[in-house]
Amino acid sequence: MPEVQLTWRGVKRWRAGHPWIYQTDVVAPTNLEGGEVVAVVDQRHRFLGKAFYSRQSKISLRWLTYEDVEVDAAFFLQRIRQADQLRRRLLPGEEVYRVIHSDADLLPGLVVDRYGQYLSAQFLVKGTDSRKDLLADLLMQQFGALGLINRSDTPIRTLEGLEPQREVMRGEVPAHFSFREGAVLLSADLQQGQKTGAFLDQRENHIVSATYASGEALDCFSYHGGFALQLASKAARVTAVEVSEAAVERLKENAAANRFTNVEAVTANAFDFLRDAVDAGKRYDTIVLDPPSFAKRKSALDSAVRGYKEINLRALQLLNPGGHLISASCSHHVTAKAFEELLRSAAADCARRVQVIEKRGAARDHPVLVNLPETEYLKCFILRALE
Ligand code: SAH
Repeated sequence: MPEVQLTWRGVKRWRAGHPWIYQTDVVAPTNLEGGEVVAVVDQRHRFLGKAFYSRQSKISLRWLTYEDVEVDAAFFLQRIRQADQLRRRLLPGEEVYRVIHSDADLLPGLVVDRYGQYLSAQFLVKGTDSRKDLLADLLMQQFGALGLINRSDTPIRTLEGLEPQREVMRGEVPAHFSFREGAVLLSADLQQGQKTGAFLDQRENHIVSATYASGEALDCFSYHGGFALQLASKAARVTAVEVSEAAVERLKENAAANRFTNVEAVTANAFDFLRDAVDAGKRYDTIVLDPPSFAKRKSALDSAVRGYKEINLRALQLLNPGGHLISASCSHHVTAKAFEELLRSAAADCARRVQVIEKRGAARDHPVLVNLPETEYLKCFILRALE
């Protein structure tokens, strides 16, 4: 087994339990291609554990185990079972959820969502990409699945020197899959949809949003209607704003499948829509903001914070007294503290008194690994504007 040596800083990080070691903290043999499971050693060649090695990524090592065990089919199956056990406890009877959440389930670079008998997988690093056939077989076996689609069509793979990929790898996978979130019926596009077809990390927040819905509601960055349709079950009217035409079509189909006639889907840039709504003096009782990540890189943090602040400021300006704002950010670079700070600054700018009613995160099938703060990426604050 190839050995990769850590610098003293790398050893410090490893001992602190951080599962990622950066390029600058390793000394790797030049003949490694990336994707190998390597033995990690300190400067005196003492064994520290095993990890996936990446040649191209800035993250060279992704921790697999501290033990000197074989990293083989049995190892991966045990990790898959351990992840599955949590979901069986949390979500008995549910058929749509995240089965494997990468590092947070100790399976770095592997994301798997389950849609009933079908699995949607993302192989995000060389270590999982080069073992995708093995992993697909183990997943099919563990879940008795009818099909598995590889939805590794994400630009994040370029950091690893991997091309985007999308293909049905095992069995058959339908184009669409219908499932319930609380009382709402959603249909996810498993083949062409964003992510694996649905934003399952927001499932619990979707359901909770109905509690706060009333009167005139606005859902910005709607995708196929995860929030908009929950709002529609309680509010008089919902305006859903989404820039992707394909997503707006799906949203309209989902509204029709629920027989909601109070949803208007608008294909527009939410920044423009919010600005025009403020200028036109519009008012809403419930607003949801669930934008894509504005800070995919740390260098984009300042402009991301400005973007989040702008939409939150506009939303607060649009809220009737007593109205609710459900505001999310999925960028891990913007911490919960930074997010709260920008909400405070937005409230100050429009001179409103705002209560924080709930501070929520991703659904529990997207666990956070305390050792890896990056896994705590989704914030969802529920606010009430008093006056
Ligand atoms: N709220 C959705 C998920 C939203 S993901 C749910 O819970 O299911 C973010 C969405 O914002 C994507 O569908 C993306 O197409 C859309 N989007 C990105 N930029 C946008 C913009 N400037 N204006 C409106 N929508 C945008």
